[in-house]
Amino acid sequence: MADARSRPRGKPKSAGAVPVPATLPARLARLGLAGPGDLPFHLPLRYEDETRITPVAEAVAGQPAQFQVEVLDCEIAFRPRRQLICRVADGSGALVLRFLNFYPSQQKVLSPGTRLRVFGEPRGGFFGDELIHPRFRSIQDDEPLPDRLTPIYPTTAGLGQNTLRRLIQKAMDQADLSDTLPEELRRRFSLEELAPSLQALHQPPAVVAMDELDQTLAPAWRRIRFDELLAQQLSLRQAYAARRARNAVVLPPSGVLTDGLLRHLPFTLTAAQRRAWQEIAADLVQPHPMQRLLQGDVGSGKTIVAALAMLQAAESGHQAALMAPTEILAEQHYRKLAAWLEPLGLTVAWLTGSLKKSEKTAMAKRIASGEALLAVGTHALIEDEISFARLGLAIVDEQHRFGVRQRLALKQKAAAPHQLTMSATPIPRTLAMSYYADMDVSVLDELPPGRTPVLTKLVGEGRRHEVVVRVRDACREGRQVYWVCPLIEESETLQLKTAEETYAHLCAELPELRVGLVHGRLRSDDKAAVMNAFLANEVQVLVATTVIEVGVDVPNASLMIIEHAERFGLSQLHQLRGRVGRGSAESVCILLYAQPLSETARQRLKIIYENTDGFEIARQDLALRGPGEFIGSRQSGVPLLRYAQLEDTALVEAARAVAEIMLRDHPLRGAQHMARWLRGAEEYLKA
Ligand code: ADP
Ligand code: MG
Repeated sequence: MADARSRPRGKPKSAGAVPVPATLPARLARLGLAGPGDLPFHLPLRYEDETRITPVAEAVAGQPAQFQVEVLDCEIAFRPRRQLICRVADGSGALVLRFLNFYPSQQKVLSPGTRLRVFGEPRGGFFGDELIHPRFRSIQDDEPLPDRLTPIYPTTAGLGQNTLRRLIQKAMDQADLSDTLPEELRRRFSLEELAPSLQALHQPPAVVAMDELDQTLAPAWRRIRFDELLAQQLSLRQAYAARRARNAVVLPPSGVLTDGLLRHLPFTLTAAQRRAWQEIAADLVQPHPMQRLLQGDVGSGKTIVAALAMLQAAESGHQAALMAPTEILAEQHYRKLAAWLEPLGLTVAWLTGSLKKSEKTAMAKRIASGEALLAVGTHALIEDEISFARLGLAIVDEQHRFGVRQRLALKQKAAAPHQLTMSATPIPRTLAMSYYADMDVSVLDELPPGRTPVLTKLVGEGRRHEVVVRVRDACREGRQVYWVCPLIEESETLQLKTAEETYAHLCAELPELRVGLVHGRLRSDDKAAVMNAFLANEVQVLVATTVIEVGVDVPNASLMIIEHAERFGLSQLHQLRGRVGRGSAESVCILLYAQPLSETARQRLKIIYENTDGFEIARQDLALRGPGEFIGSRQSGVPLLRYAQLEDTALVEAARAVAEIMLRDHPLRGAQHMARWLRGAEEYLKA
């Protein structure tokens, strides 16, 4: 076994091409423990009570306990498979210790007459009352019992509990555990002191009965969770402050263009849209970059808010770019913006990967010269050869669909442009407060008027023919229909095949209707042709893979069929359903599902069936999946919390308040606190 003294002082070097044997430091690093200072913050998962001895006769099945016994005999048995069977007894009764994996040396250690302390969970077994793979250790007669509960830590292969426990104890004695939280704040928020909290969590006193443990340790856990949330808040708020300290161009509105747009718009802004626009407009006249997230459920009307922001940039002669995650969406934005803005005498540049080389070069030139003030496109906008003459505002739509790097790339097209990101994935409040603490948030919490809520129906696959009849009826009434093909995660080819089959079937079943097919493999001009035909009601039924998931807007479509709805995630179902209910017609979303349903699939369908509010769906989704999956740590670039729970709104709020105060009044302590908690993770957050 590696020696504790061989631990490195600094962070472990990242593994190069050569695989390194798993030394103790490497094993610790796998647990995220880079140095001795991290060990006290590696907290137990649970505890075992080795402070008392249970007589064998009092063993209760399923209740872990410690026994003090003597080995009667020990042998290797071969039935039902090779295993080590060790019979032990105390004065009150006998037990079997059973090991399925064992070393030959273990048989020697367990020689008859050896006295043992054994810890395990008794159960009735093949050989009588038994403990499977119990922890055991041989003892001398007079060995005293520990007076603390035994912590069980999260660990990794090759790192035993005993080693880890010893290392942590040593670190607890040696590490600097001074409280980073100023005394006054600690009292104000009724928080325990740090060092005693850690001590209690690592070694709860034996006086605590196991069933009272949670309650006894609650204040200590609260302090730890608070500290973790505080570190997150400090680092996000600090990143926010650092970006805010940079200079950005001031974009004063003249109102000429925005007034012009509003005058020609066929609708008036909702109160929520006006509020968001005002918040953005106020940011754009600041001499530091805007960092704002515009959040709004599908169909809440984010595009017009983006357009108004872009016009404000254009009014002062600066450029604005809008990047969307798919060609279809980018194209749709382009059309909308062109229709709105070209009457005002503006041209909108259009850039996607599928443009011909010569067209691309021409567009790039217009963007580089500043001739085009407004640009819309896909990732093509962030390619190296694209440079902007004076980019003042960078907008990213459906930001969750881009990676961190791509989102960064657009704003790097200028020194420090104002940034607006838009998201239709409603983020529950606590999540927004913690993971998006480095941004200002505007929320469109209101849908434009005249929308009728979408009626959702769950229909078993066996009744597909009835659904086809509904499709025919809807089209007879002049409405249009989306038919979404099943998601097949393993295989894009299979997904395409299914879509083509569905298309063929529907063409045959509905000969009087025009059916279109759109999927990710289509060339982009073919894709655009189908979408345009659908928009113009030349195609009545659009068979689609999930490419229509984000942003497509065809108000006359009032029926949506989602095949194998049980395979989709909640936010995806919500996004898809949001494609209908955009006009004034009563809209219906039919979720076709196939049996048997898994438990989570059943829950998802129930949630989507019972709820139409995106925020409520997101909240339940969060509860179902937990923040890790909900947000995707790689996607958000924010490391996940180990101990804290976002459901604890009050604690998140307290951490946020304390972070503000510490950054202002106790910056050094704030830095110490982050160093203690975040290790290398701050790097992510600077993004
Ligand atoms: P999303 O927030 O999902 O991006 P869009 O910007 O695509 O929503 O808007 C959805 C539809 O609502 C579009 O057809 C848009 O023109 C329309 N719309 C936006 N704002 C209003 C409004 N205030 N009143 C009526 N219709 C609106
Ligand atoms: Mg949109």
